[in-house]
Amino acid sequence: MQTIYQQMDSGELAQTIASLKDEVAAAKARGLALDMARGKPSPSQVDISRPMLDILGADSDLHDGSVDCGNYGCFEGIPSARKLAGEFLGCPAEQTLVLGSSSLLIEHDIVGTFWRCGTCGSEPWSAYAAAHEDKPVKFLCPVPGYDRHFGITEDLGIVNIPVAMTEDGPDMDEIERLVASDDSIKGIWCVPKYSNPTGITFSEDTVRRLATMTCAAPDFRILWDNAYCVHDLYDEGDELANIFDIAHEAGTEDRVVAFASTSKITFPGAGIGFVGASPAVLAEFAHHLKAGLISADKLNQLRHVRFLPTLDAVREHMKKHAEFLRPRFECVEQKLAEGLGSTGCATWTHPRGGYFVSFDGPEGSAKRVGALCAEMGVRLTTVGATWPYGEDPHDTNIRIAPSYPTVEELSAALDVLVLAVKLVSAELAAEALE
Ligand code: PMP
Repeated sequence: MQTIYQQMDSGELAQTIASLKDEVAAAKARGLALDMARGKPSPSQVDISRPMLDILGADSDLHDGSVDCGNYGCFEGIPSARKLAGEFLGCPAEQTLVLGSSSLLIEHDIVGTFWRCGTCGSEPWSAYAAAHEDKPVKFLCPVPGYDRHFGITEDLGIVNIPVAMTEDGPDMDEIERLVASDDSIKGIWCVPKYSNPTGITFSEDTVRRLATMTCAAPDFRILWDNAYCVHDLYDEGDELANIFDIAHEAGTEDRVVAFASTSKITFPGAGIGFVGASPAVLAEFAHHLKAGLISADKLNQLRHVRFLPTLDAVREHMKKHAEFLRPRFECVEQKLAEGLGSTGCATWTHPRGGYFVSFDGPEGSAKRVGALCAEMGVRLTTVGATWPYGEDPHDTNIRIAPSYPTVEELSAALDVLVLAVKLVSAELAAEALE
């Protein structure tokens, strides 16, 4: 699709660029300092969980059933929290562990365990790597995706392979083709509901194909990070098929390891983290984890389950979060549609939940847009971060994280983004004419 700037002659373009540059100069003079870099809830949003902090006091009963949460023991997590974890992840409570304060560290631990120790009789991934010098261990990374996922596998020397996201989740034709013949591809990162950053929810067909596809690697693992499983913006949320049920039926249950946390439900980084897997994989993971952990913070687990005892209670709480997030997402949609809708310069996603909007400008624009926004006082997520190794081959993608600023700040930040996209698109059109 042509941008409006590509349809202009050089004189018209020069005039347009000059007037856009005037607007940029005016924006710079305003001395803005706005942050749309990371998906953090706003301070007043976090405040809605403060009552949880009053739940445990010096006189509180610290038992969950027969478990004394004030002492060592109950490595797997307290029973009420495991029940909640099972509801979050869609598997039986006995197939879950409730661990520390966040999910990313659990994901890091699981991948590290597969790397060092292997699972279910398969050799460690590190042993595979050592035995196949010409064939490094690889991981599939749906793009645009979550930079911290890519960082975990990159840190181990695993080669991250980008796979395109579609409206229905990652491109399954491509994935099935890749995994069918290459036993060095050991897994895939997935954020199946309200994906980071596209906000896309995997279709049932995608979930089924992932769970049932033929994999050359017997130890292929789906890392199912359901970080946004209850993060609906509207009463009618996206539906995600239960991958454990499908995998169980297909006999591929060992393939799936699921994660979630209460980071964006109660306190980011100070919540409780969950992992769920088949009985065999979970037992092996627990065995290795026990080498370094006597028990997680059960007082925090107790505080959480007394505050949010059931998934229904969680959903009620999430409605309060949605009150903060909905106007911000609607502001993004409105500002982008008004500012860029008729320019042909951009496409973006329209999530109904999660924390992000994925934005694509013209080829070769994103880094320049990010730099120009920074000059105008608006910080975006590092451009390129949505791709493995920070390398977006077409340099188009920008992750918009609207949750932290106030609606007024967000609105001002989006004006800046729109202006930057227009100027860079016009400059790119002019450069193409030279
Ligand atoms: N997974 C995804 C997909 C995320 O977007 C985030 C937060 N940005 C996390 C995990 C981190 O969660 P936690 O705080 O539980 O580590």
